[in-house]
Amino acid sequence: MSSIPNDSLVAVIDDELDVASMVAAMLQSLGFRTAVHQSATGFLQARHIERYAAIVMDLSLPETDGLELLKQLAKENCLEPLIIITGLQRSVLHAASHIAQDLGFEVLGTLSKPFRTAELARIMEIPLAVSHRIAHEEFDPTEQDLRLALEKNELCAYVQPQVRFDTNTLVGMEVLVRWQHPQHGLVMPHTFITLAESAGLALDITEFMTKQALTIAQHAHSSFGFDGTISVNLAPVSLSDPNFPNAMEKLVHARQLPAHRICFEVTETSMVLDSPLALEILTRLAIKGFKIAIDDFGVGHSNLERLDHYPISEIKIDMGFVQRAFENDRARVIVEESIVLGHKLGMQVVAEGVETIDHWNWLSAQGCDVAQGYYLSRPIPVAAVDSWSGKWGQTSR
Ligand code: C2E
Ligand code: CA
Ligand code: CA
Repeated sequence: MSSIPNDSLVAVIDDELDVASMVAAMLQSLGFRTAVHQSATGFLQARHIERYAAIVMDLSLPETDGLELLKQLAKENCLEPLIIITGLQRSVLHAASHIAQDLGFEVLGTLSKPFRTAELARIMEIPLAVSHRIAHEEFDPTEQDLRLALEKNELCAYVQPQVRFDTNTLVGMEVLVRWQHPQHGLVMPHTFITLAESAGLALDITEFMTKQALTIAQHAHSSFGFDGTISVNLAPVSLSDPNFPNAMEKLVHARQLPAHRICFEVTETSMVLDSPLALEILTRLAIKGFKIAIDDFGVGHSNLERLDHYPISEIKIDMGFVQRAFENDRARVIVEESIVLGHKLGMQVVAEGVETIDHWNWLSAQGCDVAQGYYLSRPIPVAAVDSWSGKWGQTSR
């Protein structure tokens, strides 16, 4: 799935003006510019002047149906990435999506009306928490900005709680990097993680976040008796640095914390996993007692052999599958089978993107171990975890 650059122009084609305007408003809140068209003819005319990064279209249009329009576009070799929406039944949506793919379109996603901004954000590959601020500001940091931010200690860690389904208790927290910018406010990772990687600063951020994780572990223990795991996202480059395991071991020893309190999350999309060095580094980390989780499980190049070879103690089911599970049979089956597979291999299974009580109840019934998502809490400063946990404990489920 390709992600559409922020600020690019997205066409919305829907004959119902209120729906079209609502979709346009959602896209704008995600940081895109929009061009609304109520008919295929209007769209086809405008297409000669405007270039669209993606098209969001309704299948039922007045003069021509959506499929005819797609065929015409394909004939003219205009294959912009598509998002198909419809009020028609789901089977129609799926069939149309297959036809569009056969015509050569990349279908980014399909949406049944009514849908939420979160679903659209997911398709456009924008985490919702991020999207809220994109709408308010534009910040395109340079390498030097980021270097200075590290020097001036402007980066900080937010945490997102992880709760066991069966006991309803806080068992872990994931640390997520934020940049407290003096002018731009709280800047989200998507603005600077890729830059950090290309500027050779990703290892510095990983080391910084691991130190933060250790501080948080100590603080959370002394202030509310927390002795669960703190998860840290590993930049892919960490898995090509032979010194990384020893450096991490030194950090935990210096704080006199057992390594098993830290879980390193690696994404399977980082192809780097296939290198022998990555396998060696992960194995050495595991020997030293660190836990290893596969992040965004299901989206990458997962193969069963890899799961078997790598020293993985946890899989985190990608939030896209969790969120689509109620609408899409494939997503539901992927979640169910990931839970079974994880358990058969002796791993803990975490579901990400648990946003509603329905997600919570269903995943709990499937035997999933741990939940993480907005239903429990958005990422918060660690100082807020204590009061969050008090409130969470009082909510009956
Ligand atoms: P991730 O590791 O998959 O982290 C989860 C992201 O999903 C977080 O976004 C979190 O705010 C968001 N999220 C959590 N629950 C929900 C939910 O219920 N619904 C929705 N729609 N979103 C939810 P965040 O903090 O913006 O981080 C985005 C990504 O940036 C992370 O994805 C991770 O890949 C990367 N990242 C964050 N911190 C670090 C870091 O310290 N180092 C590295 N290398 N990458 C990081
Ligand atoms: Ca993660
Ligand atoms: Ca994830």
